[in-house]
Amino acid sequence: MTDTQFQPRVFSGIQPSGDLHLGNYLGALKRFADAQNQGVESIYCMVDLHAITVWQDPKQLRHSTRELCAGFIASGIDPEKSILINQSQVPEHAQLAWVFNCVARMGWMNRMTQFKDKAGKNAEQASLGLLAYPSLMAADILVYHATHVPVGEDQKQHLELTRDIAAKFNHDYGVDFFPITEPVIEGTATRVMSLRDGSKKMSKSDPSDMSRINLTDDADTIAKKIRKAKTDAEPLPDTIEALDDRPEARNLVNIYAALADRSKEQVVEEFAGKQFGQFKPALADLAVERMSPITTEMARLMDDPAEIDRILARGATRAREITAPILRKTYDIVGMVGATV
Ligand code: ATP
Ligand code: MG
Repeated sequence: MTDTQFQPRVFSGIQPSGDLHLGNYLGALKRFADAQNQGVESIYCMVDLHAITVWQDPKQLRHSTRELCAGFIASGIDPEKSILINQSQVPEHAQLAWVFNCVARMGWMNRMTQFKDKAGKNAEQASLGLLAYPSLMAADILVYHATHVPVGEDQKQHLELTRDIAAKFNHDYGVDFFPITEPVIEGTATRVMSLRDGSKKMSKSDPSDMSRINLTDDADTIAKKIRKAKTDAEPLPDTIEALDDRPEARNLVNIYAALADRSKEQVVEEFAGKQFGQFKPALADLAVERMSPITTEMARLMDDPAEIDRILARGATRAREITAPILRKTYDIVGMVGATV
């Protein structure tokens, strides 16, 4: 990690907008768990306020939030070592977001590709929250003065905007108050693609369940989804470069490498010349082997939702020890009466 004047602190969030999938696991959760023992204070967040930027059934949202908490813990996040929170239980996120809504420019928001992808052709009918999403995301990060944010590739543009917001705030008020956060986008699986379309990322919100492997899928479902995953007719090549114009094949190789904790080169070497008829069952076995302990642990944790709620309440109390002073100081900087620290 690079040196900054700010104490190193990690923040990352996941939306309870549906079932956790293999992309969330490899691009986010697994990396959080791998990083946990590096001794850096880390905050991991279920971002429920982001989830409602598109319609969520209230009962389902409550369920997904608890299940996401179970997913964090089952993937290896220790709620004592890290701070595990639900966004709406730490009100300073939304309060700082308002200040950032007044710092960020409309032009910046209009350039965000996630907004364009999610709003689709009918942007006039999208919620205002969907447009303002990156400003809340900047607040999620900066209300902790987080210095490092591990995410998948798809969040790169939002993190650049977070840096722009921090820099503009610091400049406008003549302070050096918010850190310029570093995105951490590392590993072989920073962009896991849909199993049905190699040009689209795997997403919770994709209407096709066959496009993704969910953390709650059983072994048969995982095997079926991989068997039916879109591929081409060629056997696997013996170099990575030969996968450049074969996005579906490349995706499956990347997934195998990330699950096996091996390089893409090693995977290609092992399977060179093999047909998908051989590669897909090997991938399915590996995915089941790696994911079924997580699935089982998630189900066990979900048997006791009251314990999950206790973990989240405790996380919120710990989080607010950090966020309340930072919000008060922000209000003080912008000139709000009664906010003096
Ligand atoms: P939604 O479709 O509702 O936006 P999502 O699947 O994109 O859901 P998020 O909650 O938006 O999931 O993202 C949580 C984390 O998972 C982020 O760090 C994001 O970069 C990462 N992530 C999401 N999809 C992928 C993917 N396909 N490959 C790698 N990382 C991913
Ligand atoms: Mg997303």
